[in-house]
Amino acid sequence: MRLLGVGLAGTVLPGAGAFAPPSDARRVDVIVVGAGMSGLAAARTLRRQGKKVVVLEARDRVGGRVKAGKLAGHTIDLGGMWVGPTQTRLLALLREYRIATMPQYLKGKGIVDIAGKRTTPEGEGFGFDSRGQAEFDRVVALLDNLSAAIPPDAPWSAPHADEWDDITLEQWHRENVHNDDVLHFLTSEARVNFTAEPWQLSFLYFLFYLRSGDNFTMLASYDNGAQMYIVPESMHQVAAAIGNELDGNIVFGAPVSAISQDAIGVTVTSDQGAWQADQGIVALPLPLSSRIRYQPALPADRDALSQQMPMGSIIKLWIAYEKPFWRDHGMNGLMFTDAPPCSAISEATPPSGSPGFLVGFMDGRRALRWSGRPMEERKKLFTDMIVNYFGPEGAKPIDYIDQDWPADPWSRGCYGPSMGPGVLTTLGTALRAKFGRIHWAGTETSPIWTGYIEGAIRSGERAAADVLAGSKSDVKSTIEFSRPRNFLSLA
Ligand SMILES: Cc1cc2nc3c(=O)[nH]c(=O)nc-3n(C[C@H](O)[C@H](O)[C@H](O)COP(=O)(O)OP(=O)(O)OC[C@H]3O[C@@H](n4cnc5c(N)ncnc54)[C@H](O)[C@@H]3O)c2cc1C
Repeated sequence: MRLLGVGLAGTVLPGAGAFAPPSDARRVDVIVVGAGMSGLAAARTLRRQGKKVVVLEARDRVGGRVKAGKLAGHTIDLGGMWVGPTQTRLLALLREYRIATMPQYLKGKGIVDIAGKRTTPEGEGFGFDSRGQAEFDRVVALLDNLSAAIPPDAPWSAPHADEWDDITLEQWHRENVHNDDVLHFLTSEARVNFTAEPWQLSFLYFLFYLRSGDNFTMLASYDNGAQMYIVPESMHQVAAAIGNELDGNIVFGAPVSAISQDAIGVTVTSDQGAWQADQGIVALPLPLSSRIRYQPALPADRDALSQQMPMGSIIKLWIAYEKPFWRDHGMNGLMFTDAPPCSAISEATPPSGSPGFLVGFMDGRRALRWSGRPMEERKKLFTDMIVNYFGPEGAKPIDYIDQDWPADPWSRGCYGPSMGPGVLTTLGTALRAKFGRIHWAGTETSPIWTGYIEGAIRSGERAAADVLAGSKSDVKSTIEFSRPRNFLSLA
């Protein structure tokens, strides 16, 4: 017998009929929602442990925020791209699937254009004068000291958590940074790292993010930092390799619209039909995870958290030239500025040395202003910028492509969501709290390298481990299952 439209406590829920699992729902052990790096990592782990898994993916491809594109005949990354030396899970996957990396090109001079002053420091230098450099070193040491006190798995329990969560990063900058050049630089650095403005970020959340990736220098650096290596012909190869391993277990074009659960299992409804399983893993950015309808409804704290973690905004722009002409002028292709439209440019020329590739990052409010406009307009904007910084040869690109992430319906922004004041201390515990049979993955749920591919992989592996460990979680389940086992008979 099947009882439909009945809540966990046996009461009829308003509108619950919409969740009725169809009789042809297919049965697996675990349903994973989302084939980004977190969902793929979860499914791969479960499959290797003998679990029957289905991954339901809205798009027609794997990788989510890791996406390949074509530029001048090469495959490039329109999403996540760099890997750093302490991102051990991602490095292990690259080794396992025999995917090569190459160091970021740093030989020669970069360009820094901050507070209206243009300098050309060696390598990835900052171009401060001696007073600016001293102040920068002092502020970074202070930030590293403060962030070292943050427990990454429970930042809300840090000694000054409430005090730091009450203020924005911008407020902290204004009170603690005593040099204009450094203030402008740090503002732009925050924009590049969070794709949000410093006034949108809680200072506690900022410190947690630094701690999650170790420290400020690790996050901001190329050499020995988070931007140390590129994957020639794209990072997306990792997603594709896991996708191949999961062949037959991923259903594409299957946006999930509803998830219901009861004493027997979880039912997930998508455009490609319904599946039932013992447990589910939702591996989506938080704001997208709450667009799914849940029965019973999401716990209030999880719902509130997802409403208060807005996605950042980024457009990633790639331009190609016959050769990396900037190298001939002793430049390494790096550019960093607080002036619009792009805060940063990096070079990403293939190992063969040609064609020459530059990649730009238009972030925060600037990205929102240019989102939804024709690509040709952004191409002109970026080309003009290259001419301005690297010289007249920049006027003759051989190819261009960009990715307007805010306009993408299955990301709605990027790199990811972040937190404003008051959110981490009041709702932070809801990030990973298991919801009955539903486990949460996605890079934002990872205490280590949150926001990065590394965090996504770790979050997927953690969610899979929780499933395998009999649904143990670091936070107690929010649902008591008291119904008899025959409450819902499965088709
Ligand atoms: C421009 C850019 C540059 C970046 N650079 C770097 C970098 O250099 N290094 C780095 O480490 N990280 C970088 N990142 C971040 C990194 O890409 C992400 O942290 C990581 O890929 C997130 O993986 P995820 O699995 O958590 O989420 P996602 O990749 O967002 O995966 C979620 C998946 O769920 C799917 N989905 C959404 N809604 C539904 C639904 N209702 N039903 C079914 N499926 C759904 C989506 O299509 C997607 O495939 C960058 C990101 C961007 C956008």
